[in-house]
Amino acid sequence: HAKKNKKVYQVYDPQFDINALERLFLTNSLKQAIEENELVLFYQPKLCLKTMTISHVEALVRWQHPEKGLIPPDSFISIAEKTGQMDALTRWVTKAAVAQYVSWLEQGIDINIAINISAQNILDKDYPNFVIALKEQHQLRDNAITLEVTEDAVVADPEKATEILCFLYAHGFKISIDDYGTGYSSLAQLKQLQVQELKIDRSFVQHLATNENDQIIVRSTLELAHNLGLSVVAEGIEDDTALQWLKAQGCELAQGYFISKPLPAETLDLWMKNTPYH
Ligand code: C2E
Ligand code: CA
Ligand code: CA
Ligand code: CA
Repeated sequence: HAKKNKKVYQVYDPQFDINALERLFLTNSLKQAIEENELVLFYQPKLCLKTMTISHVEALVRWQHPEKGLIPPDSFISIAEKTGQMDALTRWVTKAAVAQYVSWLEQGIDINIAINISAQNILDKDYPNFVIALKEQHQLRDNAITLEVTEDAVVADPEKATEILCFLYAHGFKISIDDYGTGYSSLAQLKQLQVQELKIDRSFVQHLATNENDQIIVRSTLELAHNLGLSVVAEGIEDDTALQWLKAQGCELAQGYFISKPLPAETLDLWMKNTPYH
Protein backbone atom coordinates (compact mmCIF):
# COMPACT_ATOMS: atom_id res chain seq x y z
CA HIS A 1 0.00 0.00 0.00
CA ALA A 2 2.81 2.38 0.96
CA LYS A 3 4.52 1.60 -2.29
CA LYS A 4 1.42 2.54 -4.22
CA ASN A 5 1.17 5.85 -2.37
CA LYS A 6 4.78 6.62 -3.10
CA LYS A 7 4.20 6.08 -6.78
CA VAL A 8 1.26 8.47 -6.80
CA TYR A 9 3.25 11.01 -4.82
CA GLN A 10 6.15 10.84 -7.27
CA VAL A 11 3.92 11.69 -10.19
CA TYR A 12 2.60 14.78 -8.42
CA ASP A 13 5.89 15.80 -6.82
CA PRO A 14 6.02 19.58 -7.39
CA GLN A 15 9.73 19.37 -8.21
CA PHE A 16 8.68 17.15 -11.07
CA ASP A 17 7.79 19.26 -14.08
CA ILE A 18 4.05 19.95 -14.38
CA ASN A 19 4.32 18.75 -17.94
CA ALA A 20 5.76 15.42 -16.82
CA LEU A 21 3.93 13.40 -19.42
CA GLU A 22 4.96 15.78 -22.13
CA ARG A 23 8.55 15.45 -20.97
CA LEU A 24 8.38 11.69 -20.96
CA PHE A 25 7.02 11.80 -24.46
CA LEU A 26 9.76 14.17 -25.60
CA THR A 27 12.50 12.07 -23.98
CA ASN A 28 11.43 9.00 -25.90
CA SER A 29 11.09 10.77 -29.19
CA LEU A 30 14.23 12.96 -28.95
CA LYS A 31 16.45 10.01 -29.79
CA GLN A 32 14.34 9.36 -32.85
CA ALA A 33 14.35 13.05 -33.74
CA ILE A 34 18.14 13.12 -33.77
CA GLU A 35 18.31 10.00 -35.89
CA GLU A 36 15.59 11.13 -38.30
CA ASN A 37 16.87 14.67 -38.80
CA GLU A 38 13.95 16.44 -37.19
CA LEU A 39 16.38 18.94 -35.68
CA VAL A 40 17.13 22.15 -37.52
CA LEU A 41 19.66 24.92 -36.98
CA PHE A 42 18.79 28.61 -36.94
CA TYR A 43 21.58 31.17 -37.22
CA GLN A 44 21.76 34.48 -35.41
CA PRO A 45 24.21 37.03 -36.82
CA LYS A 46 26.79 38.81 -34.66
CA LEU A 47 27.67 42.35 -35.66
CA CYS A 48 31.33 43.42 -35.56
CA LEU A 49 31.05 46.84 -33.90
CA LYS A 50 34.35 48.09 -35.32
CA THR A 51 33.52 47.49 -38.99
CA MET A 52 29.71 47.30 -38.63
CA THR A 53 29.69 44.11 -40.72
CA ILE A 54 28.47 40.56 -40.06
CA SER A 55 31.40 38.20 -39.69
CA HIS A 56 30.03 35.67 -37.20
CA VAL A 57 26.84 33.70 -36.58
CA GLU A 58 25.67 31.50 -33.72
CA ALA A 59 23.98 28.18 -34.51
CA LEU A 60 20.89 27.61 -32.34
CA VAL A 61 19.08 24.29 -32.52
CA ARG A 62 15.31 23.81 -32.81
CA TRP A 63 13.23 20.69 -33.07
CA GLN A 64 10.86 20.63 -36.04
CA HIS A 65 8.34 18.24 -34.57
CA PRO A 66 5.92 16.66 -37.08
CA GLU A 67 2.90 17.30 -34.83
CA LYS A 68 3.97 19.89 -32.28
CA GLY A 69 5.73 22.27 -34.63
CA LEU A 70 8.94 24.13 -33.81
CA ILE A 71 10.11 23.28 -30.27
CA PRO A 72 12.60 25.72 -28.69
CA PRO A 73 15.91 24.36 -27.30
CA ASP A 74 15.11 25.23 -23.68
CA SER A 75 12.38 22.55 -23.83
CA PHE A 76 14.68 19.70 -24.83
CA ILE A 77 18.35 20.53 -24.10
CA SER A 78 17.87 19.70 -20.41
CA ILE A 79 16.11 16.46 -21.39
CA ALA A 80 19.07 15.54 -23.59
CA GLU A 81 21.40 16.30 -20.68
CA LYS A 82 19.44 14.19 -18.19
CA THR A 83 18.93 11.24 -20.53
CA GLY A 84 22.45 10.83 -21.84
CA GLN A 85 21.68 12.20 -25.30
CA MET A 86 23.89 15.28 -25.21
CA ASP A 87 26.72 13.61 -27.07
CA ALA A 88 24.43 12.59 -29.96
CA LEU A 89 22.73 15.99 -30.01
CA THR A 90 25.94 18.01 -30.05
CA ARG A 91 27.42 15.78 -32.74
CA TRP A 92 24.31 16.34 -34.88
CA VAL A 93 24.52 20.12 -34.34
CA THR A 94 28.26 20.16 -35.08
CA LYS A 95 27.91 18.17 -38.30
CA ALA A 96 25.08 20.39 -39.52
CA ALA A 97 26.93 23.61 -38.61
CA VAL A 98 30.13 22.48 -40.33
CA ALA A 99 28.14 21.51 -43.45
CA GLN A 100 26.60 25.01 -43.44
CA TYR A 101 30.02 26.63 -42.98
CA VAL A 102 31.33 24.69 -45.98
CA SER A 103 28.25 25.58 -48.05
CA TRP A 104 28.65 29.31 -47.31
CA LEU A 105 32.36 29.07 -48.04
CA GLU A 106 31.55 27.58 -51.46
CA GLN A 107 29.40 30.66 -52.10
CA GLY A 108 32.36 32.87 -51.21
CA ILE A 109 31.14 33.72 -47.70
CA ASP A 110 33.60 32.93 -44.93
CA ILE A 111 31.60 33.38 -41.76
CA ASN A 112 32.63 32.10 -38.33
CA ILE A 113 30.01 29.74 -36.86
CA ALA A 114 29.60 29.38 -33.11
CA ILE A 115 28.35 26.06 -31.73
CA ASN A 116 26.96 25.68 -28.22
CA ILE A 117 28.48 22.77 -26.37
CA SER A 118 27.39 21.33 -23.05
CA ALA A 119 29.35 20.55 -19.87
CA GLN A 120 28.99 16.88 -20.76
CA ASN A 121 30.89 17.42 -24.01
CA ILE A 122 34.06 18.46 -22.18
CA LEU A 123 34.20 15.74 -19.55
CA ASP A 124 36.48 13.64 -21.75
CA LYS A 125 38.00 13.83 -25.22
CA ASP A 126 35.25 11.93 -27.11
CA TYR A 127 33.53 15.02 -28.44
CA PRO A 128 36.77 17.04 -28.82
CA ASN A 129 38.28 14.25 -30.92
CA PHE A 130 35.11 14.12 -33.01
CA VAL A 131 35.08 17.84 -33.78
CA ILE A 132 38.83 17.90 -34.46
CA ALA A 133 38.44 15.01 -36.93
CA LEU A 134 35.59 16.86 -38.64
CA LYS A 135 37.71 20.00 -38.92
CA GLU A 136 40.52 18.02 -40.49
CA GLN A 137 38.19 16.13 -42.83
CA HIS A 138 36.84 19.40 -44.23
CA GLN A 139 40.20 21.19 -43.95
CA LEU A 140 38.60 24.07 -42.08
CA ARG A 141 40.81 27.05 -41.31
CA ASP A 142 41.72 27.83 -37.72
CA ASN A 143 39.14 30.02 -35.95
CA ALA A 144 36.41 29.08 -38.42
CA ILE A 145 34.46 27.51 -35.57
CA THR A 146 33.82 28.96 -32.14
CA LEU A 147 32.77 26.67 -29.31
CA GLU A 148 30.54 28.37 -26.75
CA VAL A 149 30.67 26.77 -23.33
CA THR A 150 28.76 28.04 -20.31
CA GLU A 151 30.46 29.25 -17.16
CA ASP A 152 28.89 26.50 -15.02
CA ALA A 153 30.38 23.83 -17.33
CA VAL A 154 33.77 25.19 -16.35
CA VAL A 155 33.03 25.62 -12.65
CA ALA A 156 31.88 21.98 -12.42
CA ASP A 157 35.44 20.73 -12.96
CA PRO A 158 37.81 23.63 -13.66
CA GLU A 159 40.94 21.48 -14.06
CA LYS A 160 39.39 19.07 -16.56
CA ALA A 161 37.67 21.92 -18.39
CA THR A 162 40.94 23.83 -18.65
CA GLU A 163 42.72 20.79 -20.05
CA ILE A 164 40.03 20.03 -22.66
CA LEU A 165 39.50 23.64 -23.70
CA CYS A 166 43.26 24.15 -24.13
CA PHE A 167 43.32 20.96 -26.23
CA LEU A 168 40.55 22.33 -28.48
CA TYR A 169 42.24 25.72 -28.70
CA ALA A 170 45.50 24.05 -29.73
CA HIS A 171 43.54 22.45 -32.61
CA GLY A 172 42.31 25.78 -33.95
CA PHE A 173 38.96 26.26 -32.23
CA LYS A 174 38.03 29.57 -30.71
CA ILE A 175 36.71 29.11 -27.17
CA SER A 176 34.03 31.39 -25.79
CA ILE A 177 32.57 31.56 -22.31
CA ASP A 178 28.79 31.85 -22.68
CA ASP A 179 26.31 33.50 -20.31
CA TYR A 180 29.19 35.25 -18.55
CA GLY A 181 28.19 36.87 -15.28
CA THR A 182 25.49 34.36 -14.34
CA GLY A 183 27.86 31.77 -12.88
CA TYR A 184 30.55 31.89 -10.26
CA SER A 185 33.82 31.61 -12.10
CA SER A 186 36.57 33.65 -10.54
CA LEU A 187 39.04 35.95 -12.20
CA ALA A 188 41.81 33.44 -11.46
CA GLN A 189 39.91 30.60 -13.14
CA LEU A 190 39.23 32.66 -16.24
CA LYS A 191 42.85 33.65 -16.52
CA GLN A 192 43.90 30.03 -16.24
CA LEU A 193 41.38 28.87 -18.83
CA GLN A 194 42.99 30.75 -21.68
CA VAL A 195 39.69 31.28 -23.47
CA GLN A 196 39.56 33.86 -26.26
CA GLU A 197 36.12 35.35 -25.80
CA LEU A 198 33.53 36.26 -23.19
CA LYS A 199 29.84 36.51 -23.95
CA ILE A 200 28.09 38.83 -21.55
CA ASP A 201 24.75 37.34 -20.60
CA ARG A 202 21.74 39.09 -22.02
CA SER A 203 20.34 39.83 -18.56
CA PHE A 204 23.04 42.53 -18.23
CA VAL A 205 22.52 43.85 -21.76
CA GLN A 206 18.77 44.00 -22.32
CA HIS A 207 18.24 47.07 -20.11
CA LEU A 208 21.60 48.77 -20.68
CA ALA A 209 19.94 51.91 -22.04
CA THR A 210 18.23 52.69 -18.74
CA ASN A 211 19.92 50.63 -16.03
CA GLU A 212 22.99 52.28 -14.53
CA ASN A 213 24.01 49.15 -12.58
CA ASP A 214 24.06 47.13 -15.78
CA GLN A 215 26.23 49.80 -17.38
CA ILE A 216 28.70 49.54 -14.49
CA ILE A 217 28.79 45.73 -14.71
CA VAL A 218 29.23 45.67 -18.48
CA ARG A 219 31.88 48.41 -18.44
CA SER A 220 33.95 46.59 -15.82
CA THR A 221 33.51 43.26 -17.61
CA LEU A 222 34.82 44.83 -20.81
CA GLU A 223 37.80 46.24 -18.94
CA LEU A 224 38.54 42.94 -17.22
CA ALA A 225 38.22 40.95 -20.46
CA HIS A 226 40.34 43.36 -22.44
CA ASN A 227 43.04 43.38 -19.76
CA LEU A 228 43.13 39.58 -20.02
CA GLY A 229 43.35 39.81 -23.82
CA LEU A 230 39.83 38.48 -24.48
CA SER A 231 37.32 39.84 -26.95
CA VAL A 232 33.74 40.41 -25.84
CA VAL A 233 30.34 39.60 -27.33
CA ALA A 234 27.28 41.28 -25.87
CA GLU A 235 24.11 39.25 -26.40
CA GLY A 236 20.49 40.34 -26.10
CA ILE A 237 20.74 43.77 -27.73
CA GLU A 238 17.20 44.97 -28.21
CA ASP A 239 17.64 48.66 -29.03
CA ASP A 240 19.96 51.06 -30.80
CA THR A 241 20.91 52.89 -27.59
CA ALA A 242 22.49 49.71 -26.20
CA LEU A 243 24.21 49.03 -29.51
CA GLN A 244 25.75 52.53 -29.70
CA TRP A 245 26.74 52.44 -26.05
CA LEU A 246 28.54 49.09 -26.47
CA LYS A 247 30.28 50.34 -29.61
CA ALA A 248 31.51 53.41 -27.73
CA GLN A 249 32.79 51.17 -24.90
CA GLY A 250 34.89 49.10 -27.31
CA CYS A 251 32.82 45.89 -27.22
CA GLU A 252 33.84 43.76 -30.21
CA LEU A 253 30.67 41.89 -31.21
CA ALA A 254 26.96 42.48 -30.72
CA GLN A 255 24.10 40.02 -31.00
CA GLY A 256 20.40 40.48 -30.38
CA TYR A 257 16.91 40.92 -31.74
CA PHE A 258 17.69 44.56 -32.63
CA ILE A 259 20.16 43.27 -35.24
CA SER A 260 18.32 40.06 -36.14
CA LYS A 261 16.51 37.14 -34.57
CA PRO A 262 17.94 33.67 -35.25
CA LEU A 263 16.93 32.68 -38.80
CA PRO A 264 17.01 29.53 -40.95
CA ALA A 265 20.07 29.56 -43.26
CA GLU A 266 18.10 30.45 -46.42
CA THR A 267 16.32 33.33 -44.66
CA LEU A 268 19.63 34.56 -43.30
CA ASP A 269 21.03 34.56 -46.85
CA LEU A 270 18.21 36.90 -47.89
CA TRP A 271 18.65 39.03 -44.78
CA MET A 272 22.38 39.38 -45.51
CA LYS A 273 21.62 40.72 -48.98
CA ASN A 274 19.36 43.44 -47.57
CA THR A 275 21.08 44.40 -44.33
CA PRO A 276 22.91 47.74 -44.07
CA TYR A 277 25.69 45.86 -42.23
CA HIS A 278 28.02 45.08 -45.14
P1 C2E B 1 22.25 30.96 -25.53
O1 C2E B 1 23.39 30.15 -26.03
O2 C2E B 1 22.52 31.97 -24.48
O3 C2E B 1 21.60 31.61 -26.84
C1 C2E B 1 21.02 32.89 -26.87
C2 C2E B 1 19.51 32.79 -26.74
O4 C2E B 1 19.01 34.11 -26.60
C3 C2E B 1 18.82 32.21 -27.98
O5 C2E B 1 17.64 31.54 -27.57
C4 C2E B 1 18.46 33.46 -28.74
O6 C2E B 1 17.38 33.30 -29.62
C5 C2E B 1 18.09 34.39 -27.62
N1 C2E B 1 18.26 35.79 -27.98
C6 C2E B 1 19.11 36.31 -28.88
N2 C2E B 1 19.01 37.64 -28.95
C7 C2E B 1 18.05 37.98 -28.07
C8 C2E B 1 17.47 39.25 -27.69
O7 C2E B 1 17.81 40.32 -28.18
N3 C2E B 1 16.51 39.20 -26.71
C9 C2E B 1 16.10 38.04 -26.16
N4 C2E B 1 15.14 38.09 -25.22
N5 C2E B 1 16.62 36.84 -26.49
C10 C2E B 1 17.59 36.82 -27.44
P2 C2E B 1 17.31 30.07 -28.06
O8 C2E B 1 17.69 29.90 -29.49
O9 C2E B 1 15.91 29.77 -27.65
O10 C2E B 1 18.31 29.18 -27.23
C11 C2E B 1 18.21 29.09 -25.83
C12 C2E B 1 19.37 28.35 -25.23
O11 C2E B 1 19.35 26.97 -25.65
C13 C2E B 1 20.73 28.86 -25.69
O12 C2E B 1 21.07 30.02 -24.96
C14 C2E B 1 21.59 27.68 -25.38
O13 C2E B 1 21.94 27.65 -24.03
C15 C2E B 1 20.67 26.52 -25.69
N6 C2E B 1 20.99 26.01 -27.02
C16 C2E B 1 20.54 26.41 -28.23
N7 C2E B 1 21.07 25.67 -29.22
C17 C2E B 1 21.90 24.77 -28.63
C18 C2E B 1 22.74 23.73 -29.11
O14 C2E B 1 22.87 23.46 -30.31
N8 C2E B 1 23.43 23.00 -28.17
C19 C2E B 1 23.34 23.27 -26.84
N9 C2E B 1 24.07 22.54 -25.98
N10 C2E B 1 22.57 24.26 -26.36
C20 C2E B 1 21.85 25.00 -27.24
CA1 CA C 1 25.38 30.56 -26.82
CA1 CA D 1 24.33 33.18 -23.99
CA1 CA E 1 21.57 31.58 -22.07
